[in-house]
Amino acid sequence: VKIIVDRLSQSPVSEVFEASANWWRERTALDSGESTHLDCEILTPFQFSLRSYLIGADVVLEGGVVGEIEVECGRCLARYRHALRDQFRLVAEEAKGRVPPDPEGQECLTRFGLCLTDEIETGWYRGGVIELDGFFTEVIAGMMPLHSVCKEDCRGLCPVCGVSRNDTHCECDVEAATPKKVSPFAVLAQLRQ
Ligand SMILES: [Zn+2]
Ligand SMILES: [Zn+2]
Repeated sequence: VKIIVDRLSQSPVSEVFEASANWWRERTALDSGESTHLDCEILTPFQFSLRSYLIGADVVLEGGVVGEIEVECGRCLARYRHALRDQFRLVAEEAKGRVPPDPEGQECLTRFGLCLTDEIETGWYRGGVIELDGFFTEVIAGMMPLHSVCKEDCRGLCPVCGVSRNDTHCECDVEAATPKKVSPFAVLAQLRQ
């Protein structure tokens, strides 16, 4: 998936790209050192609608992305479907002689012909070909949920017997089973008395 800079003009060109589950697995396997990626399954390939054009010598990549993943609820541990949808707009200047301050940026600029300088909104490009893999990975990573909860009012697991309180009602005495938390302020107050 690439953009040929010489073919861009001021009038936007629209294209649709699909990023498959395999592609995402490969992309995230590269930086598996980071724990920022959710353990999730891609149910439908990510679909990018991309418009690319020039403003002066700046390359603009904008559009939207949709996808659907299956993740584990952080409270009740059930797997559930999570629809993802996001918009993006990147304006990349020609890097010319400039070198990104961070090694990651340098590697991206060499490898993809594009690096990001401020989130995914601004960046630098170098050379006539921009490989979109790195940018698409950042866009997807940015829209992944940080906390996965199957529904707003998920009641989680019973701390005593472990059933999901969403679908089972148990008679456990949770109050008796959990040690009382004593706030440090309460302890201080007692000491003062
Ligand atoms: Zn849940
Ligand atoms: Zn219970």
